[in-house]
Amino acid sequence: MTTRSESRTELIESLMERFPHVPREAVIKEDLLRGGMAFDESALSDTANEASGEVKPKSYFIFSFDHGTLPELGAAALRRPPEEIVLTGGPYELRRTVVSVRVNPASPYRVAADDNGVLGLYLDGARISDVGLPPMPDYYRHTLENGKSVMEVAPTIQWGYLIYLTVFRVCQYFGAKEECQYCDINHNWRQQKAAGRPYTGVKPMDEVLEALAIIDKYDTNKSSTAYTLTGGAITTRLQGKDEADFYGQYAKAIEERFPGRWIGKVVAQALPKADVQRFHDYGVRIYHPNYEVWDPYLFERYCPGKERYVGRDEWHRRILDSAEVFGPRNVIPNFVAGVEMAEPFGFKTVDEAIDSTVEGLQYFMSRGITPRFTTWCPEPTTPLGKANPQGAPLEYHVRLLEAYRATMEANGLSSPPGYGPAGPGNAVFSVSSFMDSLPAEAAAPEDAIASPRG
Ligand code: SF4
Repeated sequence: MTTRSESRTELIESLMERFPHVPREAVIKEDLLRGGMAFDESALSDTANEASGEVKPKSYFIFSFDHGTLPELGAAALRRPPEEIVLTGGPYELRRTVVSVRVNPASPYRVAADDNGVLGLYLDGARISDVGLPPMPDYYRHTLENGKSVMEVAPTIQWGYLIYLTVFRVCQYFGAKEECQYCDINHNWRQQKAAGRPYTGVKPMDEVLEALAIIDKYDTNKSSTAYTLTGGAITTRLQGKDEADFYGQYAKAIEERFPGRWIGKVVAQALPKADVQRFHDYGVRIYHPNYEVWDPYLFERYCPGKERYVGRDEWHRRILDSAEVFGPRNVIPNFVAGVEMAEPFGFKTVDEAIDSTVEGLQYFMSRGITPRFTTWCPEPTTPLGKANPQGAPLEYHVRLLEAYRATMEANGLSSPPGYGPAGPGNAVFSVSSFMDSLPAEAAAPEDAIASPRG
């Protein structure tokens, strides 16, 4: 008789065997991202004061990306887990693989220290890799004049590559009839406040600039390469500004103060072309108008706010229009990989889900636009997370990596700009393994980022 945890090892090994072209690293990374990992107390930081430790803590940079609410996470809520872990070695001879931390105390994957204090990743009780933790960056040790931490105002992810500026911590799509059905941005804001953590709803401009000045000063080897401006959708106005002006004002101020220091990206709704032009005028260089899920029936159900305010067809038209402003290479819409298979509305078979997803990839890639994806984390306070605590089948995620690469190559494209290096052992993008699964030589040079108008 096999136990439940033994079958998880068998599952990853059978997929590694069936899909030998997908890096082994990516199979394990996808499984960790869809299902989370548990932390032994031995692997958690010793201090509640996150600025004084040796390990860079999880910042909760936008969503919770956990499989439990903070009160359910036990020690992992009080003693913060790391932002990311890096896997190497072990029986699968893993090359260096950066994985975003999604906490799940019930996961068969466990990070723990051995008798010598050396951290490892255990699956079904067997050690499957060494685990490295991100060192506390110097810039996290300094606070703003008002005492706020850099981690709260301008956290970095992807092993320090990306500064993640969620300048609006809630979404104006609010409640069951408007919120995207897989998104816990509003719940995460409430739970961070309830836990007494500083978690600023709208980040004041001067704080953002002050935090960036600290990063610029102490990030002496210039690991931080890009910043992302993002937050919830703005359907009316926020502080008197529409969405393009609200998010764009930060880009404008950053570019004026630190011209060209980082690649500016914005994740926002698919806006009309004139608004998109304003983003570009403000200095944004990469635009992420996320289309979330390709299938029309699922988009309508999963993104009721976007469907009602904009509509799927118009959303797609605007994505294509924005390529005329930014250049198709610099329009990189995201989709949430896995929700295609969520109960009760999703596809019942992996074949159907992959076919639908590839149709969307082909639609954009045939026009020179390269979507990218994050691996769905079924957060328990979202409707889809509640109904699907296990997430999507791992086979879907593995086959998506294969299909994504094939569609990209068929269209003569390479990995999108602004993601750092590609290839197993090189990638730093931590919330899906699409960059780990592309050939190393396909990495786009960062200086290729330019608009068609220069
Ligand atoms: S638009 Fe949807 S995915 Fe984006 S923050 Fe709002 S609810 Fe979440």
